[in-house]
Amino acid sequence: MLLKQVLRVCSAHYTNDESGSNMKHDRFIVKPNSAISLEKDFDPSYKADYITKKDATGKLQSDIKRLGEYQDVLYAQNTYALLLIFQAMDAAGKDGTIKHVMSGVNPQGCQVYSFKAPSEEELDHDYLWRSMKALPERGRIGIFNRSYYEEVLVVRVHPEILAKQQLPPEAKGKEIWKRRFEEINNFEKYLVNNGIIILKFFLNISKAVQKKRFLERIDRPEKNWKFSASDVKERTFWKDYMTVYEDMFNHTSTEWAPWYIIPANHKWFTHLAVADVINTKLQALKLQYPIVSKEQRQELLQAREMLGQED
Ligand code: ATP
Ligand code: MG
Repeated sequence: MLLKQVLRVCSAHYTNDESGSNMKHDRFIVKPNSAISLEKDFDPSYKADYITKKDATGKLQSDIKRLGEYQDVLYAQNTYALLLIFQAMDAAGKDGTIKHVMSGVNPQGCQVYSFKAPSEEELDHDYLWRSMKALPERGRIGIFNRSYYEEVLVVRVHPEILAKQQLPPEAKGKEIWKRRFEEINNFEKYLVNNGIIILKFFLNISKAVQKKRFLERIDRPEKNWKFSASDVKERTFWKDYMTVYEDMFNHTSTEWAPWYIIPANHKWFTHLAVADVINTKLQALKLQYPIVSKEQRQELLQAREMLGQED
């Protein structure tokens, strides 16, 4: 390709008129200031017009490829970062979704953090501290596999965890959850205002399918490592989790960082829906490769001339 052509391509606006999305995201999104019911409003087995996994393979493959292309421009432009937050009950498929959906992305432009129970050092700080440190740099996609949302989920379901947080008495009152929602909303607003775009996914699995997946993990030797006896214990708190999840959605789905409740009983549909939501968001950003200045163009031409003079 001639240098002029290369330059034209590089400075061209990155357009992809074909959004490729045939999904109605309204079905997944929690409208800000609404009061949703997880059970009534969101079907974990929903799969749009697709019947089997095979029907979705073509779209998923092209969406994975497209995500890789967007990520390339995101990286080159170095203006926005994309933060993807995944929350779910055990065995809902967070790991598999991350693995599949991100499979076309350059590993250099992507970072995954899995948040576990906080360490002593982390407990000695405010609850957002460890997340701040893990935020993606501009140009990157950062993935939070679990997140600060655990602070209004597991911590709320198990008061003994809150008791270990060394909070001053005035911070521990019954207003704590409302205050945390507010703090999280403000934190996310700050991030979005500064170019860190946030997408929050809840992978919505049913209790029956969770049981099926646990049994598979027990029965299939290659899946044994994924099983932990404590997961079964945690399952006994299912109802409590649904209550706190619902309250969290109703207070932290905002215009700037809405929650997407993704059906998770069919893993292939989860992957399809997550990829679709990410691509739609990236497309809306109208990402652009950096424009080459006159001086830079001159330098490129000089470099080309030097290369041409080599033996
Ligand atoms: P896997 O699919 O491998 O089970 P996972 O995300 O469930 O993935 P685990 O190591 O099983 O990973 O669990 C991490 C645990 O850490 C979860 O039980 C979660 O509730 C807990 N955790 C995460 N953040 C916090 C927090 N801020 N406070 C207390 N516990 C937390
Ligand atoms: Mg687990």
